[in-house]
Amino acid sequence: MADLEINRLEKYYGAFHAVKGVDLKVTAGEFLVLVGPSGCGKSTLLRMIAGLEDVSSGDIVLKGRGITHAEPKDRNIAMVFQSYALYPYLTVYENIAFGLRARRVPAEEIDRRVRQAAETLHISAVLDRHPRALSGGQRQRVAIGRAIVRDADLYLFDEPLSNLDAKLRDGMREELKRLHQEIGKTFIYVTHDQIEAMTLADRIVLLNDGVIAQSGAPLDLFERPVDRFVAGFLGSPQMNILPVTVTSDREGVALADGRVVPFGSSHRLSRPEPGRRCQLGVRPEHFRTGGADGFDVTVEVVQPTGSRSYASFGLAGTPVVAELDAHAVARPGERLPLTIAMERTVLFDAASGRAVS
Ligand code: ATP
Repeated sequence: MADLEINRLEKYYGAFHAVKGVDLKVTAGEFLVLVGPSGCGKSTLLRMIAGLEDVSSGDIVLKGRGITHAEPKDRNIAMVFQSYALYPYLTVYENIAFGLRARRVPAEEIDRRVRQAAETLHISAVLDRHPRALSGGQRQRVAIGRAIVRDADLYLFDEPLSNLDAKLRDGMREELKRLHQEIGKTFIYVTHDQIEAMTLADRIVLLNDGVIAQSGAPLDLFERPVDRFVAGFLGSPQMNILPVTVTSDREGVALADGRVVPFGSSHRLSRPEPGRRCQLGVRPEHFRTGGADGFDVTVEVVQPTGSRSYASFGLAGTPVVAELDAHAVARPGERLPLTIAMERTVLFDAASGRAVS
């Protein structure tokens, strides 16, 4: 059953069209991540759900109730902001309890819920402190605690980890996922960070310029992107895009320098017509060393990351990054025989950028 239903939602700021007819159904208990480049409209969409931004047209239904024009306080939605928005003169305990007191929850119940949230978030030891005496990570936990003590119908997160340093962010990511598994509530989480989106989401909704570019399980989007935008947004280093032409026998594609890469057993169902100009999308991890159908490249830069290394080289005039076993590539100038795992690649139409299915 859909917990939240968004129908043909539009937002204009004056003449500027920020959200362009978004349809979305969110299932009860789902961890949905809205992701996309800066300015794509994800915060606007989240703020319309929360009631912090007026809707230009369309409607929002939460658990069967139309809430499109309801006051934020009447929506039973809890939200965690990037800025934390803690009350500086209240203790951690009172910050977490604040929303419950406002809703006249009995004191014993408040105490039980605050202590339980604090335990879940590992901040029981700092309940008597004020926000200024907390680390950034602890403040973020208090902000999350304030949301999760509420028995809300929906929990919204607007880039909650972006003010934390990289290490804390990694830790909090895992804790947020654990928290979601424990409490089983519906989460909608906004980020511009593709790693956060991939790691946290049950489902990713990737927005581009006010419209949904693609929605699906993280691995679906990663492995079967509908177009070059989706392919390029997810994955780091980015997918390599090689200009190619389908060979006359449709058995493979020719690179810009005429070298032919055979399809092998892949792309069998969707071999485009001969001579069609396409782009072959190859993720860095889809290069292999050695192999019978290989080609030699001259490595220009090697970036070791530990067990793997990124090797940069030119392939038929296109700069390419391959992720290889650290022991397979040692230094710049080295000649390296490589093959492409064609069954993992994606073929795009050169003109439209759409995946050729
Ligand atoms: P970011 O990751 O940078 O926060 P976003 O995807 O969350 O980006 P939004 O904040 O939703 O983007 O903004 C979407 C578009 O609407 C942007 O082009 C932005 O400049 C514009 N916009 C947002 N708020 C307003 C406003 N109050 N008045 C005019 N334009 C606005």
